[in-house]
Amino acid sequence: LADKLSEAFKRLRSKGKLTESDVKQAMREVRLALLEADVNYKVAKDFVAKVTERSVGSEVMESLTPAQQVVKIVDEELTALMGGENTRIDMASKPPTIIMMCGLQGSGKTTHAAKLASLFKRQGHRPMLVACDIYRPAAITQLQVMGEKAGVPVFEMGQIDPVKIIKGAMRFGKDHGNDILILDTAGRLHIDEELMNELKRIKADVEPNEILLVVDAMTGQDAVNVAKAFDDALGITGVILTKLDGDTRGGAALSVRAVTGKPIKFIGAGEKIGDLEPFHPARMSSRILGMGDVLSLIEKAESQMDEKQARKLAKRMQENKLDFNDMLEQMLQVRKMGPLKQLLSSLPGMEKQLRDVDIDDRQMDRVAAIIQSMTMEERSNPDIINPSRKRRIAAGSGMKVEDVNRLIKQFEQARKVMKQVGRGGKGKRRRMNFP
Ligand code: GDP
Ligand code: MG
Repeated sequence: LADKLSEAFKRLRSKGKLTESDVKQAMREVRLALLEADVNYKVAKDFVAKVTERSVGSEVMESLTPAQQVVKIVDEELTALMGGENTRIDMASKPPTIIMMCGLQGSGKTTHAAKLASLFKRQGHRPMLVACDIYRPAAITQLQVMGEKAGVPVFEMGQIDPVKIIKGAMRFGKDHGNDILILDTAGRLHIDEELMNELKRIKADVEPNEILLVVDAMTGQDAVNVAKAFDDALGITGVILTKLDGDTRGGAALSVRAVTGKPIKFIGAGEKIGDLEPFHPARMSSRILGMGDVLSLIEKAESQMDEKQARKLAKRMQENKLDFNDMLEQMLQVRKMGPLKQLLSSLPGMEKQLRDVDIDDRQMDRVAAIIQSMTMEERSNPDIINPSRKRRIAAGSGMKVEDVNRLIKQFEQARKVMKQVGRGGKGKRRRMNFP
């Protein structure tokens, strides 16, 4: 999905000002990408309609960076589609909090019951796992093994009525100070009435605070159908989307919320106890769009740096014809993107490193002033700048002759480096790759 979307955006970015038909074309590609990623048909259709409506508005078309604006709208709408904010577990005002896990067989109920228990334990709670899958003796053993890995007690009473087991667990938990009970219920290969009736009966008798549906993200559209069926029959409070570490196309994450109206609360990406994360729609959206902040930074740079100008510059670099005019042009380009520190700090990991660094944008402005005080001839042929010219340039720009000397020296060094680089590259702009 990420690849397909970035493809669609790349085409948009190669345009300057966007027309309505550019946006529509890109949105056709976005819609196809969503469908291919197993996003529900109606969800994809509504999504694209919303983004198109916002994108063809005058605000975007007339902005300096229309393609960047469209990507931003897609990001915002993806986030909204997944519910906007992270939704936390609803804790009981009076313990114990009862969390019922449900879902089809193999979706990851037992594994995620243990992962959740481990998470709560690390948060300082005293969770207990309750074995309610009474149809397969191996299910109890499996929960005990997982409970041991999580360092959390497992309550079991063999293969008796699950409601009786849960009542027993509540009494036991009260005596032992367990504030969260996680119920690992049975699943079936398919949704059937018997399973639903059992879950409904548990719900009615126990009144869990949370009914979390565990769905396997690798099943794509099916995951969404399962979520809808469980929600219609049982009324769930949230979803845990599992197996996101596998070869999933990500579509389930996008549709579940839109189709059921229920939030994804956690995502599971691995078989280990620690492989559980709270679900953050904005982060998921960045993940789907591929590269998060880096993407927006590149957008920014590319939209400000005119392609034609860049090609011209590369050619001049290669031919070692770089002069002060090019340098001035480059600096003005960079300055257009805003304060350098702000620009650099949108790179991942840079913010911390830059905290105490003082980047002086005025330095760049001073250099620009010196170059602007040169005649066109001096700019394109720096070798003619003799001492008397230097004095004139310094006076004109309000700088000292030393400043002019330093700039010329820096320029000569830069030119030397460019010469080497120019010989190596073929003038092609190097592509950056992100994981
Ligand atoms: P249940 O039948 O719903 O209780 O499902 P289980 O918890 O027994 O999980 C079924 C299988 O899926 C097991 O082999 C788990 O190890 C595996 N599994 C569960 N969650 C994940 C996950 O997030 N990623 C991967 N790769 N495997 C998982
Ligand atoms: Mg199980």
